Amino acid sequence: MSTTENAIASAEAHSAHTYHPLPVVVATAEGAWMTDVEGRRYLDMLAGYSALNFGHANRRLIDAAKAQLERVTLTSRAFHHDRFAEFCTQLADLCGMEMVLPMNTGAEAVETAVKTARKWGYRVKGVPDGMAKIIVASDNFHGRTTTIISFSTDHEARADFGPYTPGFEIVPYGDLTAMRAAMTENTVAVLLEPIQGEAGVLVPPPGYLPGVRELTRERNVLFIADEIQSGLGRTGKTFACEHEGVVPDMYVLGKALGGGIVPVSAVVSSAAVLGVYRPGEHGSTFGGNPLACAVALEVIAMLRTGEFQQRATELGDHLHQELGLLVGVGAVQTVRGRGLWAGVDIDPGHGTGREISEKLMDRRVLVKDTHGSTIRIAPPLVISKEDLDWGLEQLREVLRG
Ligand SMILES: *Cc1c(COP(=O)(O)O)cnc(C)c1O
Repeated sequence: MSTTENAIASAEAHSAHTYHPLPVVVATAEGAWMTDVEGRRYLDMLAGYSALNFGHANRRLIDAAKAQLERVTLTSRAFHHDRFAEFCTQLADLCGMEMVLPMNTGAEAVETAVKTARKWGYRVKGVPDGMAKIIVASDNFHGRTTTIISFSTDHEARADFGPYTPGFEIVPYGDLTAMRAAMTENTVAVLLEPIQGEAGVLVPPPGYLPGVRELTRERNVLFIADEIQSGLGRTGKTFACEHEGVVPDMYVLGKALGGGIVPVSAVVSSAAVLGVYRPGEHGSTFGGNPLACAVALEVIAMLRTGEFQQRATELGDHLHQELGLLVGVGAVQTVRGRGLWAGVDIDPGHGTGREISEKLMDRRVLVKDTHGSTIRIAPPLVISKEDLDWGLEQLREVLRG
């Protein structure tokens, strides 16, 4: 057996089969490129689902992490540390908000948003105890915890994991009338992805997000934007909500906030909302640790230059222009997305998304399928135009088929 086959067989024998990875075993990576255990190089057109917006082994981020590794890495929140205040101040400022509640993974931040909205509902809005409702959208992806999968519409994500957490109302994504109808005086929040990533990079109809903003303001309901995948530069803006001129009440951030190095997530909101907490009511041993704060601070500083948002806009325009030429030719049915982020629907007659991903892998381009017949394209924002064009050429060759 080859080194690759050995590694895959071992992984299959000793890890729960919660994923179906492509048969490539990565050993090293830099920028937009990964090298496998046999020395083959691949162009990364997935970027860890946007966790790697700044590329693999980004020099600035690695240096920030290394410097912090030598100082202090973990204190727990039992004590203050000297990167914490700066991190919270800078992140709140980047978001145009006032307060930050740091966690680690995206799902934890979504859980935190749910708890925050409920507590705000009881303490500030005056919802009767135990009655708080949160409205979410169909085809959402907010993570994998028991509460979060309780309001998923994906059968695979939910089946066999009940009983489910109550208190959620699911309405069709993009349908403002349905959302208005679902609202009651006990509604405390609307939780949405401004662009649905896992669903296949679904961009809502124009006017939807501003409509949600208006409706939630009118009804004293918090608008929570899950920007874990869409935020921090991917769409050409710091936040995907900005494309529609919308400012939510709360951002949920993760993925790229950790620079592809450590998991860092956060809920960012006003003092009126995050001010509801008292000591002991919520927490995390690793949330807001010094290493996480040091890396995230560098991420924030990089986003402040606007350079990555601009790259995402320029390369994104190019990506969508090139992908647009493929629609109706060969296997491509539709293309969606914004910035350096695209969902490409494949005619099932030309093979599944998985088969297309495997063919691309044979051509040394790594992408990931979603929902059977869609492939998602989201290279690191640091990819060069030449590399992007090379990747697109491989895509063209495979999809033309
Ligand atoms: C990835 C993702 C999550 C979950 O993040 P994890 O770090 O995997 O827990 C939540 N919401 C959205 C929109 C995501 O893309």
